[in-house]
Amino acid sequence: MPAEIIQIKNLRVKYGEIEALSDVSFDIISGDYVGIVGPNGSGKSTLIKSILGLIPFEGKIIFQGETLSDFILKNNIGYLPQKMSFIDQRFPATAMEIVVSGLYCQKKFPKRVTKNDYKSAGEIMETLGISGLADRSIGKLSGGQQQRILLARALIHSPRLLILDEPTVALDPQSRDTFASIIKKLNSEHGVTILLVSHDSGSMGKYASKLLYLDRKVVFYGTFDNFCRSDEMTKYF
Ligand code: ADP
Ligand code: MG
Repeated sequence: MPAEIIQIKNLRVKYGEIEALSDVSFDIISGDYVGIVGPNGSGKSTLIKSILGLIPFEGKIIFQGETLSDFILKNNIGYLPQKMSFIDQRFPATAMEIVVSGLYCQKKFPKRVTKNDYKSAGEIMETLGISGLADRSIGKLSGGQQQRILLARALIHSPRLLILDEPTVALDPQSRDTFASIIKKLNSEHGVTILLVSHDSGSMGKYASKLLYLDRKVVFYGTFDNFCRSDEMTKYF
């Protein structure tokens, strides 16, 4: 198995006349925790969407020699998107049902939920410390609790790579810390490769093993220590 889980080569993305990303190249190594930072509009979400095949791009993104769809089919990617509008209070589903729904995309018709599915959901909820919420109505939970339910949903098929786009923007500082330590633990104890976009470059150093500083192109990619000693650091902060 190659050490690179994803290789990105000369990635370029345009929205009409706007070039959101130009000539972006870097590799994500299996087991890394990569923190992506950069100013607003620097192309962070565009990069994530390109990796997930959600928008057209020029250049190459290589998934260990497989196509993106084969790679995803083998359950290799969990994704928590940037937009987190809180769920309506009356939304008719329990937390457990939301977590189990993370398995639907892999199921063939008729999409039936099995006892084993509930068992997997129970296990991941236990790992994330949210077992107690299982039977609660999702709309009645706090923002931090909902976010952890959605994380459990993204993790239920045991992805090797977890991609998160500003997952804690809407959370209070305490929920933010809890969430950050859960992600850190997934990386260090369960070996999940993490790609996390954050607006908070300061706290990134505490968690990430590598930093990708993006500003339409790669300004810096490497360890946090090296970033602190780099010219880019002085130029940008
Ligand atoms: P970030 O996530 O770093 O804030 P984005 O990747 O969302 O940045 O956006 C990068 C640039 O591309 C911005 O200038 C933004 O306005 C533009 N952009 C993003 N999405 C679209 C879109 N769907 N259509 C047109 N322009 C877009
Ligand atoms: Mg964004």
